Amino acid sequence: MLDHVPAALVVQDLVMRYGATVAVDGISFSAAAAEVTAVLGPNGAGKTTTLEICAGLRRADAGTVHVLGLDASRDATALRARVGVMPQATGSGAAGVYPSARPRDVLRLFAALYADPHDPAALLDRLDLTAAAGTPWRRLSGGEQQRLSLALALIGRPELVFLDEPTAGLDLHARRSTWTLIEELRAAGVTVVLTTHAMDEAERLADRIVIVDAGRVVAAGSAAELTGGGRSLEDVFLAVTGDRR
Ligand code: ATP
Repeated sequence: MLDHVPAALVVQDLVMRYGATVAVDGISFSAAAAEVTAVLGPNGAGKTTTLEICAGLRRADAGTVHVLGLDASRDATALRARVGVMPQATGSGAAGVYPSARPRDVLRLFAALYADPHDPAALLDRLDLTAAAGTPWRRLSGGEQQRLSLALALIGRPELVFLDEPTAGLDLHARRSTWTLIEELRAAGVTVVLTTHAMDEAERLADRIVIVDAGRVVAAGSAAELTGGGRSLEDVFLAVTGDRR
């Protein structure tokens, strides 16, 4: 990250334990404003835990997180209006929506919580959900649930969004369309922090890539910096995360 670009997210010495499991073991990184930062790492590396702490959904055991200049745990209420969160999808689809709720109603409900929300109908249209707007959550396809979850993260016009595997399970059209949307967000000045397992996604979207393994940052930089020696990002990823299989 260039020194003159202000950091919208600063994570310092983060530690999180679940019983005997150390999920996050001293993670530090920052994300520049109006850039896309991609957090990569093997399964169980601590990506979701880190993102949830940054988004104010979990409290860390140690360390600090500053989002848009505010303390993520102390100023969580103030940040709620300025930050959007797309949680990781569960095995049965994206998290956190009632089974009988319909996209149109959920989005209107969320819009009412914000001072200057997007128009729910326009956002449904942008995410190709108009035809599914009246379908109960439990009957939406996995990809439709994912796209609704993204819409819910964006409805309040956030300055910064945390997207946990935003394209997981999406078909190629929806995936490309989501990439374009993320690029539009960046162009509009929104800071995007996302996790992904897809190297092509990180290479296409991310200004900065942070690779974590076993709760620690093992490499960080732009895709060009990380792959400087002519290696593919996949090779770099495999090299820095070790081979434990
Ligand atoms: P993935 O790529 O599979 O989504 P991740 O990098 O997001 O993985 P986390 O979900 O943050 O990893 O998990 C980090 C570690 O913490 C794992 O060992 C996981 O089993 C453990 N863990 C996560 N959540 C909990 C929880 N609520 N209780 C106990 N252990 C947990």
